[in-house]
Amino acid sequence: MSWFDKLFILGLPLVPKGIMRRFSRRYIAGEDRPAALRQGASLQKLGYRVTYDVLGEAVSNRQEVQEAVQEYHHLLDDLAQNGLERNVSLKPTQMGLLIDEDLCYETVADICSKAESMDAFVRFEMEDAPTVDGTLRVFHRLRRQFPQTIGCVLQSRLFRTLEDVQALLQEDAPLNVRLVKGIYLEPPEIAHTQGEPINQAFLQAQLALLQGGAFLGAATHDEKLIEALQKALQDHPEWKPRAEVQMLLGVREELRSQVRDMGIPVRVYVPYGEHWLPYVTRRMRKNPRLARLALIGLFSKREKEQSEPV
Ligand SMILES: Cc1cc2nc3c(=O)[nH]c(=O)nc-3n(C[C@H](O)[C@H](O)[C@H](O)COP(=O)(O)OP(=O)(O)OC[C@H]3O[C@@H](n4cnc5c(N)ncnc54)[C@H](O)[C@@H]3O)c2cc1C
Repeated sequence: MSWFDKLFILGLPLVPKGIMRRFSRRYIAGEDRPAALRQGASLQKLGYRVTYDVLGEAVSNRQEVQEAVQEYHHLLDDLAQNGLERNVSLKPTQMGLLIDEDLCYETVADICSKAESMDAFVRFEMEDAPTVDGTLRVFHRLRRQFPQTIGCVLQSRLFRTLEDVQALLQEDAPLNVRLVKGIYLEPPEIAHTQGEPINQAFLQAQLALLQGGAFLGAATHDEKLIEALQKALQDHPEWKPRAEVQMLLGVREELRSQVRDMGIPVRVYVPYGEHWLPYVTRRMRKNPRLARLALIGLFSKREKEQSEPV
């Protein structure tokens, strides 16, 4: 990253919230559930799979955890009522992981129990490195109880990930993993810091998961990784029913439609809610060009192509 980009990223906290809000429209379905449902319905019509995320993280009290849980319950009900795919993503720290691991387990189990009864799916996400052990412990308990309903996320950036893949494959239960590079910048003692080793680790983990019988959600906008997945699925057509690509709302929409047209299912991640600022800030850090746009207020054009009508 150039010093110029670093400077823009450092300037992000100075951007007025109104401008950030305007910028966030490409990444966030909206601040409320109806906006997310409209976005999801539109994506489904275009042949995409969808997962919904209620924005929020690092919750510090039980009241906030309960509010998030309630929102997920309403979301699942509304998805069912509107005949939409029932697939949600949630963050461990939003479910109370930093307050108490048992609380986190109980709250996610509560959501999973409802999800299981309505044939829905819950993705238990992965956050920064200090939370990985706790997240995997909670996931282990949830997976035993809701084997068809819950899946986890692994980050190829972390050195430990291949071992985590092997350990998860050893357990006698279905395994559904979203594989990502990892958005949290981790220290070099525990993580790859450069693009190529992160990609190599991604490919190793991807192969191990597919060979080991897991369902793989390859969550990436990197065409090199997508090409590698496409090749693996051509060589092993029997893996096709166990693989999809996942992409974030508002990111590389042209590539997204190409992947869909190639015949690989694409799931779009649709976040919504009032707590959008940390999410958008992370996205901008990931792509400094967008941070520059935010700072100089050039918001009239989408980065690649116009989004589908919602
Ligand atoms: C569905 C989904 C769920 C995720 N869940 C998690 C999670 O639970 N935990 C976690 O740590 N990480 C998660 N991530 C983020 C992930 O770890 C990466 O940080 C992110 O996907 C960027 O990596 P990349 O594989 O797309 O490759 P990159 O090399 O970062 O990007 C490839 C290309 O896509 C473009 N691009 C990438 N991101 C953006 C963006 N925001 N805006 C515009 N262009 C962009 C880049 O400019 C580049 O051209 C998730 C990602 C996706 C797609």
